[in-house]
Amino acid sequence: MKRKKISGNDQAEVIFRSNRECVICSNHKRGDHIHHIDGNKTNNKFENLAFLCFDCHSDATMTGGLKKKLTPKTIMKFRDHKYQVVAIERENALKRFNSPIDGLTTEDLLTTTKSAIIIIEIEKIKEEYFSAEWTERPSIILKLNRFLDHTNFRVAVDIFNFFSIVADQTRFGMTTDVAVSIFTLTINFFPYSNKKEDDGKIFELGNECVNIAFSLIYDSIIHLKNYNIAMYGLTMLKYVHKKGKQHKIKQLGDRVLETYKEIERMLQRVGRNDLEIALRLVREFKSDLNGKNLSFPLLSDDLMKVIIQTAK
Ligand SMILES: [Zn+2]
Repeated sequence: MKRKKISGNDQAEVIFRSNRECVICSNHKRGDHIHHIDGNKTNNKFENLAFLCFDCHSDATMTGGLKKKLTPKTIMKFRDHKYQVVAIERENALKRFNSPIDGLTTEDLLTTTKSAIIIIEIEKIKEEYFSAEWTERPSIILKLNRFLDHTNFRVAVDIFNFFSIVADQTRFGMTTDVAVSIFTLTINFFPYSNKKEDDGKIFELGNECVNIAFSLIYDSIIHLKNYNIAMYGLTMLKYVHKKGKQHKIKQLGDRVLETYKEIERMLQRVGRNDLEIALRLVREFKSDLNGKNLSFPLLSDDLMKVIIQTAK
């Protein structure tokens, strides 16, 4: 059977409707693949396609073994459900920004207008970032600091969405300086509020920060072997953990702990024997989660040596 190329539009549609997450396990960090549900690689009908991670893809294509194979029917069920959930989440996300404006004061109007202008400015910075070289990127990111005095939930969401795309591209050669800029901005823009009534939104943003940190850590270890970037990612986790405690948002701390587990699990299962150092690094940072400040923990001598060697 000769594979035909899936049209660009269909590819985009499959990826968009599944939110770039595996339709079975919702992960998007284990590699991804557009799977032909009926096994016929020439059948590129939209109905026959599903976005899967490498793990679930191998569960769908395996023969024999003790594990239960993912059947076409199961995959379709999961996929259709995933499309629904993603669509509903998107709708809700839009509603949240759509609060009614009765009794609008001139001050409210000023704030709204300011946010709109900032959002356009962020768009410009994004464009500038993606067309620049890695060496120019840190200073482009730091331009976001100029909005610090006018930040709010909407502005923060835009900034962290931007970072999430940036972090997803870590593997393509991110430099330590870019990671440092992201780290600095995260500390400046998260959390955007100290009010108890904003806890839900703070959790949401914190969750996004955790995802960004995860990408930085995992991708820099697996693809770049740049432990410096990983250490900034790990410190981001510590920062979010700290803020969770300060604001008494327990789920935020839990999220950080779950993420540590996920990183450890994934580093162990990649099946590479060069990840022992990374695993130790992750564990030493984990045991420092409750440390007072955000400086890197004191690492064991031999670990330190390896890290300095790879930093060159
Ligand atoms: Zn999966």
